[in-house]
Order: sequence, then C-alpha cells, then structure tokens
Amino acid sequence: MSLVTAKNVSKTYITGDIKIEALKGLSFEIEPASFVSFVGPSGSGKTTILNLIGCLDKPTDGTLKVSDTDISHLNRRMAATFRGENIGFIFQDFNLLPVLTVFENVEYPLLMVQNIPSEERERRVMDLLNAVGMTEQKNKYPDQISGGQKQRVAVARALVTEPKLILADEPTANLDHKTAYMVIDIMRKMKNEFGTTFIFSTHDQKIVGEVEVIYMLEDGELTDRHVRGG
Ligand code: ADP
Ligand code: MG
Repeated sequence: MSLVTAKNVSKTYITGDIKIEALKGLSFEIEPASFVSFVGPSGSGKTTILNLIGCLDKPTDGTLKVSDTDISHLNRRMAATFRGENIGFIFQDFNLLPVLTVFENVEYPLLMVQNIPSEERERRVMDLLNAVGMTEQKNKYPDQISGGQKQRVAVARALVTEPKLILADEPTANLDHKTAYMVIDIMRKMKNEFGTTFIFSTHDQKIVGEVEVIYMLEDGELTDRHVRGG
C-alpha cells in the first residue's frame, strides 16, 4: 500500500484580485520506506506540495491520502494531531529553538505530542543524537554549533516521534557540499534503519543524485518521474 496517494491535487492561492495556480492536478503515489524528491525551479510548487502532504495547508481540489487517512478535509485540530503523530519536518534554515540545548531541541516534539516517561524520552533522544553523531554537543546551544551540526540535530528532532514520514524542504540549501552529503547520508541510514520515508524538495543536484525517485515539477505541473536503478 502506498504511504502517500495524490489524485488530481490542485492548489490555488487567491490574494486580492490575483489568482495563482501553484499546483495543477498532481497525481502520484509514494511507497513506504522510500527516498524521494520533488525537483524544480523556484516557484514551481515544491513547498506547496510538501505543505499539503504535511497537513499544514489543504488542497483546493483533488484528494490526498497519507497512510489510510484522507487528509484533504481534516479540520485544524485533526490536522495538528495527525501531523504530531505521523510527520516530521526538516527545514532549510534548521528552525532550532535558540534557547534550548541540542538535547532539549530533540526532546521538544516528544513533550508536545506524546505522554512519554522521562527515562524513555532520554533514551530516545540519546539514541538519535548518537545516530547523527551529536552526543558530545548535547549541552550546547544552536549558536555554538555549525550549520551541518544544526541540520543533524534537526534530523534527530524530526525522527524522535518515530514518524512514518519526514518532509524536508530544501534541507541542504544552506550547507556546503561535504556537509550536505554527510547529512543526506545520515538521512538515508535513518530511512534504512527505521523504514522512514523521506520526501525532499530541492533544486540541489546533490540530493537529486542520491534519491530513489525524482518527481520533476514545472510551473505547478508534474512533468516527469525518474526511478533510479529501476
Ligand atoms: P517553490 O517551493 O518551488 O519555490 P512554492 O510552492 O513556494 O514554490 O510556490 C509556488 C507558487 O505559489 C509561486 O508562484 C508562489 O509565489 C505561490 N505561492 C506560494 N505560497 C503562496 C501564498 N501563501 N500565497 C500566495 N501565493 C503563494
Ligand atoms: Mg520552496
């Protein structure tokens, strides 16, 4: 069964008299435990499709399913619960909370959505910090670590609730080559170890070369789908 199923998904933004068709009838399926990316120029609709899959916004038309849930019609409260239980996010600018330590940043989603005893929380956070190679920095604050290290913390934070799906909007845009490859490598390991699906948006060739399936977006339309080695 597919993890994400989109049928004729459209999104139109209306601001004043201006109507922008950001997505025009997208249909696709994403399998569990896959590593896929939407690729296209700026303004092609990459962030919009990730926001819809992540229940941060709703399609104007069409249906969108994640697992067995039709997320096209969830109300705000249901969308928030669904997000908390099923989806992790990784952003271009990391979005770590500056007043929290590395450990606390990774622990934070667990405090928000789940009632987990503190020993269990600590175990999960430390396992993930270990997996992304950030144990030694656990008591540092975000402004005391590098960009690549911040993104590794963001990967750990996205995984801590054990979501089925992680959405990463241009996660390597602010990283140099070597660091970007390291972060992508960590994400692939996580995918292999936990069976987590990663959906990226990017125009970064480094990611394009590393994913299994590429969806090409142009002007709100899917123009092509490439499958690597298949
Ligand atoms: P990408 O992430 O590929 O750069 P986006 O999904 O951000 O593209 O944007 C797709 C199109 O939708 C662009 O034309 C953008 O200006 C427009 N758009 C995105 N978000 C909004 C919004 N909240 N209101 C109005 N227009 C938007
Ligand atoms: Mg974008």
